Amino acid sequence: MNRSGALNTGQPDAPPVQRLCPVCNSNQFQAYAQKKDLKLVHCGACSMVYANPVQISYASGDYYNTSGAGYYLSPAKLESDYAPVRFERELKIFRGHCRSGTVLDVGCSSGAFLYQLKQRFGDCYEVIGTDASGPALDYAESRGVKVVRGDFLEQKFAGQTFDAVTFWAVLEHVAEPKVFLEHAASLLKPGGRCFVLVPNLHSLASRILGTRYRYVYPQHLNYFTRSTLSRLASEQFSIRQACSTHFNPMVIWSDWRGGGREITDNERADLLKRTTAYKQSRLLKPIKALYRSSELLLGSLGLADNITLVLSKGEGRISAPTPAD
Ligand SMILES: [Zn+2]
Repeated sequence: MNRSGALNTGQPDAPPVQRLCPVCNSNQFQAYAQKKDLKLVHCGACSMVYANPVQISYASGDYYNTSGAGYYLSPAKLESDYAPVRFERELKIFRGHCRSGTVLDVGCSSGAFLYQLKQRFGDCYEVIGTDASGPALDYAESRGVKVVRGDFLEQKFAGQTFDAVTFWAVLEHVAEPKVFLEHAASLLKPGGRCFVLVPNLHSLASRILGTRYRYVYPQHLNYFTRSTLSRLASEQFSIRQACSTHFNPMVIWSDWRGGGREITDNERADLLKRTTAYKQSRLLKPIKALYRSSELLLGSLGLADNITLVLSKGEGRISAPTPAD
């Protein structure tokens, strides 16, 4: 969730935005799926699935600064995001490729990833977060996370360059993911790392649920597979690692029973909170081992909920990935 100010958002009745393929810029597409007003299309040139057209408030990012801001600051969502287990997979991957330096988290929301990074490895990193949502940045600042406000694509960060730029669950929200990666590359030092996590269109959950899946919704403009995300990223970066992570059987069960009905923000946040509680429960330790094995198996098959790419810029300071913590 990101960009603000790039498009005219002052007209509530503005027509939806027509898009080219966000991966290859082709205008050749066929209908792929529909869920109420959300129309997904399939690119005839590269197979990318994306929303087309999209409401202007989502395309501009204005939604996250206005009506959408409350979700990210609801007590259940904050409790889940700030739980120590919330970013454990991301932190492990991140530490495996970036042991120290300057870190920019784009679409940082309430700042939870950077907060965890600083809590655990405080002296190793200098961190900055940015987001389209002003209220979320206010909260991040209240937790001690340094933030920069304004449109990411316009930001020069006072000439600063970074050892790492992270996009945790961000590129599925933006109308022009390619431009975001280009800007990230321009902000990275030679050999710097870019981390991208997005939902996996080929996940088990997505295959079982189709459009009943709660993550098929208007805020998600792009529906990547490992193939389409790799194609997008490889224009700017070398791919150091690609993996499939995360698995939430509670979402599958809940959405299967829900039959595709709209999930409210409260329900969304409550399920995240319950999932987080289960992950932290000592009583459920035997079940967690089974759950972890399932996630690893799905990940090895490319069927876990998300795709994560670790990217490097240029041919500079590239070293073999160090073992994760
Ligand atoms: Zn395409």
